[in-house]
Amino acid sequence: MKFGTKAIHAGVSPDPSTGAIMTPIFQTSTYVQKSPGDHLGYEYSRTHNPTRTALQNSIAALENGKHGICFSSGLGAIDAVVKLFNPGDEIISTNDLYGGTYRLFTKVFERYGIKFHFVPMNEPEKLSQYVNERTKMVWVETPTNPMMNIIDLKAMAAFSKKHGILLAVDNTFASPYLQNPLDFGSDIVMHSVTKYLGGHSDVVMGALVVNDDELASRLVFLQNACGATPGPQDCFLVLRGIKTLHLRMERHSQNGKTIAAYLKNHPKVAKVYWPGFEDHPNHEIAKKQMKDYGGMISFTLVGNKLEDAKKVMENLELFALAESLGGVESLCGHPATMTHASIPKEEREKVGLVDSLIRLSVGVEDAEDLKNDIAQALAKI
Ligand SMILES: *Cc1c(COP(=O)(O)O)cnc(C)c1O
Repeated sequence: MKFGTKAIHAGVSPDPSTGAIMTPIFQTSTYVQKSPGDHLGYEYSRTHNPTRTALQNSIAALENGKHGICFSSGLGAIDAVVKLFNPGDEIISTNDLYGGTYRLFTKVFERYGIKFHFVPMNEPEKLSQYVNERTKMVWVETPTNPMMNIIDLKAMAAFSKKHGILLAVDNTFASPYLQNPLDFGSDIVMHSVTKYLGGHSDVVMGALVVNDDELASRLVFLQNACGATPGPQDCFLVLRGIKTLHLRMERHSQNGKTIAAYLKNHPKVAKVYWPGFEDHPNHEIAKKQMKDYGGMISFTLVGNKLEDAKKVMENLELFALAESLGGVESLCGHPATMTHASIPKEEREKVGLVDSLIRLSVGVEDAEDLKNDIAQALAKI
């Protein structure tokens, strides 16, 4: 099946007891057994729930993977991945990464003796210096948040294979519509389902997709043993969201292109970070591994003043000032004080995350209205 057909049909089938075309919300914690151990495959909803099963199969299909495993948040999913490892193990992570992931790695897992190397990944051949016999995984985010760098997934997979370590990719920014990391040789794909997969800013959820059966069973064990599982109502909402993922992503990408071009020509804008530009330093890689370039854009202001950035965000009307991304409505955010406030200033500035950087999640509204909104907000500084 092609993507649009999978978005609507994969993983779901009419309910056998009623014929309901939509997967019911199985709002139950437990399931009746005929005799001890004699049941229909469901015992307790932390372990299995039919609404969750349908969603897990749907997300797996969208990522061209075999196993989907859902969690109560994106960070819950990442937490399970790191729990595959033991004290003393080492992980190489991109240095330009979601603030919450950085916080989980450094403030939680470093206390349990896991060591992280935060490094730039634009030159995979330079990563060998961080590999030793304790190295277990490479953690990649691409496009990166909020700098919109693109990491070469094929090159990273070759590097990981060569050293016998796992490659995990946070695919939240691209969504499965724009990019499928398993196709390029990665072992684990992670999503903050909260963002594009859910798509309507009404659910917090995470997911992992893997092909390897043994890796899947270790992650399913952690899902059940640690218990960060999503409820059936949320699974239903995401199943509903996924049915329009391809339509939404097409429009996010179109609008992203229009807004990025508009910002690039604006005299008060210093830099625009969007991988669809031909002069984006990683454009050629983006072209190879992404179907389109999406609606995530970051830009800085001429003069790089924090108060100017604040004024623009206060004056934007259609772009709501809020954390998160990937919903149908446009949002703006200020990484330095919001999503990335937990990353020290000197670490932030090393990767270009300066005080005037504004991140946009361009929604699926009319592009002309979005452009006018930005024009009036920039006119106020
Ligand atoms: C939001 C986000 C996360 C965390 O997901 P939650 O659902 O908020 O726990 C991880 N990675 C990226 C890139 C994100 O945008």
